[in-house]
Amino acid sequence: MPTYRAPRGTRDLLPADRAPFARLERIARDLASRYGYREIEVPIFEQGAVFEHGIGEVTDVVEKELFRVSPSRGEERERWALRPEATAGICRAYVEHGMQTWPQPVKLAMTGPMFRYDRPQAGRYRQFWQWNVEAFGDPGPAVDAELIELGMQFYRAASLDDVEVLVNSIGDPACRPAYVAELAAYFRGHEAALPELERRRLAANPLRLLDSKEPAMAALIAAAPKSIDRLCGACAAHFAGVRAHLDAVSIAYRIEPALVRGLDYYTRTTFEFYRRGAAGQQQALGGGGRYDGLVALLGGKPTPGIGFALGLDRVVLALESAGTAPVEEAAPIAVVVGADPADTAGRLVVATRLRGAGLAVHADLSQRKLGRQLEAAVKEGAHYAVILGDELAAGDVQLRDLDAASQKLVPLESLAALLRRKTPGA
Ligand code: AMP
Repeated sequence: MPTYRAPRGTRDLLPADRAPFARLERIARDLASRYGYREIEVPIFEQGAVFEHGIGEVTDVVEKELFRVSPSRGEERERWALRPEATAGICRAYVEHGMQTWPQPVKLAMTGPMFRYDRPQAGRYRQFWQWNVEAFGDPGPAVDAELIELGMQFYRAASLDDVEVLVNSIGDPACRPAYVAELAAYFRGHEAALPELERRRLAANPLRLLDSKEPAMAALIAAAPKSIDRLCGACAAHFAGVRAHLDAVSIAYRIEPALVRGLDYYTRTTFEFYRRGAAGQQQALGGGGRYDGLVALLGGKPTPGIGFALGLDRVVLALESAGTAPVEEAAPIAVVVGADPADTAGRLVVATRLRGAGLAVHADLSQRKLGRQLEAAVKEGAHYAVILGDELAAGDVQLRDLDAASQKLVPLESLAALLRRKTPGA
């Protein structure tokens, strides 16, 4: 047993594990820039109040899952927390930097790790990665549909073909209070049947009961009043607009009346992505919604916003379970090896020169025999070995084709150009 281990609920992504994440990050970055979302980075920890206030006190994320951070010494009295999601922090940054004075909409995206102190299980970690996309300043509904379509594009580009999107509208401050009161009355009528936690939540946040994963709640939730039947005129028109725009871009969706999402800040549109047939049984791949009140809640001028968070870990797991081929790590075009085990400097110099020419070239800097160096080069998946030997005095090296096991003399001068021609995709 090693003395030290990664904390429970976290894991090391070894190079082969990291490769599929890097691929998803590349897909996300490429899509974000094509859709006009600019990259942002916010701190991994924030004032705890950003999450308490922004996400809401009576939410799983804040009540149970927030990782509190307190410095052991120093001047600062601030109570911090590791970010459990990115939206609240990005909104805080929007307000802090006066982004409401920028041309609207302000469209921002980032990928990074999030932290939640939850019971770890498959697909649920205490550190996990998300791709976050946020659009500020556009009340929709077209941008809502654009964002949902972007999420679907991401899964398609990642080769996850069986993803469906569930959508709902939870109204706004005009129509939600009456709906929430009706919902509370409905659940109070069934109070005896409610599990303890749900009974406690009923007083503070009745909407949250629709989110319950307790099997005992399923039938009650199915029969509960639905927010989409209680929308005010403006919210109903907005939701109809979202649906019309989704139809316009041929995105098939399912309306899920109990989809309220676990965080307080949502208004109107909410959505979640699932593998087809997995909704309700498995964890969502990603989700998002509109948060027209959040910027004001965090001290800014009232500004509409909408965003999503797609979990990368669950996409990687889904691709694995679908038997998708693992992501290949890039192999070097060549490894520089040498006949003289002691001459590591010669190998370093030649490799440095080739890398300076933009090539992916490794150097074997060990003092093992040439045969061993060549074996290692083959294991690395290199296509060529540049062999430094006596010919170097005349300015030549042996270039060994490791795939064909053939070899020829090449002037050092023309080596970079030759390897560049041989580089796949060059
Ligand atoms: P949420 O805002 O909680 O719906 O989270 C958005 C997405 O992040 C989810 O759909 C998951 O894909 C991912 N996610 C959330 N929590 C975790 C976790 N503990 N471990 C892994 N992925 C998570």
